Amino acid sequence: MSAFWTQPDWDEHERVDVVHDRASGLLAIIALHSTHLGPGAGGTRFWHYPDPEMGMRDALRLSRGMSFKNAMAGLPMGGGKAVVLLDRKGTKTTEMLHAFGDAVEAMGGRYVTAEDVGASVADMQEVATRTQHVCGLPVDEGDAGGDPGPFTAMGIYHGIKAAVAHKLGKDSMQGVRVAIQGCGSVGGGTARLLAKDGARLVVSDIDAERAKTLAKEVGGEAVAVEQIMGTPCDVFSPNALGAVLDDAGIAQLDCAIVAGGANNQLARPEHGRVLHDRGILYAPDYVINAGGIINVSLEYLCRQHGEPCDINEVRKRIAQIPGRLQSIWDKSEAEGTPSNEVADAMAMELIGRG
Ligand code: NAD
Repeated sequence: MSAFWTQPDWDEHERVDVVHDRASGLLAIIALHSTHLGPGAGGTRFWHYPDPEMGMRDALRLSRGMSFKNAMAGLPMGGGKAVVLLDRKGTKTTEMLHAFGDAVEAMGGRYVTAEDVGASVADMQEVATRTQHVCGLPVDEGDAGGDPGPFTAMGIYHGIKAAVAHKLGKDSMQGVRVAIQGCGSVGGGTARLLAKDGARLVVSDIDAERAKTLAKEVGGEAVAVEQIMGTPCDVFSPNALGAVLDDAGIAQLDCAIVAGGANNQLARPEHGRVLHDRGILYAPDYVINAGGIINVSLEYLCRQHGEPCDINEVRKRIAQIPGRLQSIWDKSEAEGTPSNEVADAMAMELIGRG
């Protein structure tokens, strides 16, 4: 087996810590891709990986994605990500959260954490008992910060509307058919916003009850997990886990647009070309899903400076996501280059690796 820093996913990470705390049983990876623009910011994923190598791969890919996401969102933050490797039962204890907080603190502010899949606001409050380098904490009404999910959903909603205007020439979501994969914080929030605009929704989740409940709430239809990618629709919106856009997944698609919140949607960068060649408009994941990190980064920066931060500043910055997508799509069409490649080149330039 070759060393992980010789694998393509390594992509010149500045540093990767593997943390083991014997007393609590914590096993975590903290990956710091780039601090060129500021402290590496990115959430912590709590997940059971059947093979720890998959956890390392996830940490590296997500961390690089955060460098790109933060840079493209115009934030003074670099990119990092942590993965806590849970046991088969998904055991997560207060002691583990404290040990994880100590590990973040030991990085001296070079890494700033927040919620990701498997983490709650309450978890981050436990982490915050050990380190100040954490965000996504409860805030006063009207202040930036707290659960990033609804803000990510807000950005996806704006991004989908921009994609529909660009690709379909429609300035309304009335009757536009959107297939949503994953009915959690981001998928559910996006569905509720789109429903208010009259979109026709088809939803799916491995938790079938969750999908049914959401479908009822938004006046949509729930379908089985294996049906959602092949559902005829205008927009396919992946909001569950990554790598769904692989050869088999793309072959199933019956849509004009792919725009959703999941991180690392493309199984490999070449899959962006496959979408492009099929004439499907792709909204690069780390550009469209930056709403949550915009919210929690402003929370963190304001707390560091001892100032309150107005939620309207977060909304203003999230409203800039469609403009960024538009410039990527314009360049993509002008050059005949897939949108993911255009976005990657822009992001690399911004983090000093152009
Ligand atoms: P969540 O845990 O609230 O929801 C995820 C949902 O997806 C769950 O309901 C789960 O049952 C479902 N799911 C899992 N596998 C599935 C499958 N194969 N098919 C259908 N449904 C499936 O998580 P979330 O916060 O909504 O995040 C969703 C995605 O968005 C993740 O990829 C996450 O990394 C990404 N993301 C989240 C944020 C945020 O602010 N929460 C920000 C940026 C990106």
